[in-house]
Amino acid sequence: MSIQSDNATKKRIYLSSPHMSDEGYEMQYIQEAFETNWIAPLGKNVDEFEKYLARYLGIGHAAALSSGTAAIHLALKAAGVGAGDIVFCQSLTFSATANPIIYQNAIPVFIDSDYETWNMSPAALDKAFEKYTPKAVLVVHLYGLSADMDRIVKICKKHNVPLIEDAAESLGTLYKGKHTGTFGDYGIFSFNGNKIITTSGGGMLVSDNEERIAKVRFWATQSRDPARHYQHSELGFNYRMSNIVAGIGRGQLKILEQRIKKKRIIFQFYKQELAALDGVQFMPINDWNEPNYWLSCITLNGNVRPLDIMEVLEKVNIESRPIWKPMHMQPFFAEYDFIGDGASEEISENGVCLPSDTKMSVENLFRVVEIVKGLWR
Ligand SMILES: *Cc1c(COP(=O)(O)O)cnc(C)c1O
Repeated sequence: MSIQSDNATKKRIYLSSPHMSDEGYEMQYIQEAFETNWIAPLGKNVDEFEKYLARYLGIGHAAALSSGTAAIHLALKAAGVGAGDIVFCQSLTFSATANPIIYQNAIPVFIDSDYETWNMSPAALDKAFEKYTPKAVLVVHLYGLSADMDRIVKICKKHNVPLIEDAAESLGTLYKGKHTGTFGDYGIFSFNGNKIITTSGGGMLVSDNEERIAKVRFWATQSRDPARHYQHSELGFNYRMSNIVAGIGRGQLKILEQRIKKKRIIFQFYKQELAALDGVQFMPINDWNEPNYWLSCITLNGNVRPLDIMEVLEKVNIESRPIWKPMHMQPFFAEYDFIGDGASEEISENGVCLPSDTKMSVENLFRVVEIVKGLWR
């Protein structure tokens, strides 16, 4: 049997797929919700998921929501962003970061990344402040790497502008020993299917501001006034997380550290096997950053291109994907301003995310690197 057909018959290797605990914690919490008939939105699982996530992060308060996107939307609202306001938004990200700016009828100004962090460039952010007065800054911690928070926070403080951290991809990532998502006025997390832990779908908005989190919970449950009759003084949303979904989250939180450990092993394996190949560069890990290694990403500046890797892996049923295409290059966001030199464009054009599924065996990992190395032979 040729290597080709042998590979083709093997089970698909995913980029990052849901991975429930071996102990079945998630099912226990779901069972409990069923037994107490707490199926309806809210209940003990939601309360406990919020409490334990906040405790894990070392932050005061958390509101469990239906998605990370909903969390960004309500973070913008909590920060006072409304129609016509400007929001500085990292350009190199998934579209879910930027879309809620439009939901609020606000105006995004996209900020470039730097090569040192792949995240928002403090220099570009400084430059943007010379041109505009924004209502909020939206920074992202891509692929589990952290932005340079000391510098970003300092700039926002100097201009007295609220900072929102999109930590959808970076749950468990530390910057100088402190969790990403806890530096700004608001932090958001996602529990979508391919994130480091998942609830099948869901999000969390965290903050030290108790009053604002209470307000977010109010907005997320249709802004129902505390009156006897259904009375509404504000626009409402149906954005709360269900008690069933929160049960999955409680279980997943118990094994988050295990998942980070495995993601780190995957990254280190790739680095050991692929770093010497001509033109290969790994995503930047700074001294002050302890990533969650959500996805292992590389850039290529030699003859082998990202598409070559993606195609050769797909042929043998292995999933990989390109780096996010910057928002300022998206047709939908084309009319908005961009501040920077184009680092985000270059990272995007040359980058590829290698399969980083925590279910991968050692054999799977060897299979991936053998196929990738074949492109250099
Ligand atoms: C996944 C993701 C989101 C959106 O989270 P959802 O829970 O899917 O709505 C936002 N920002 C980034 C950077 C993401 O990767």
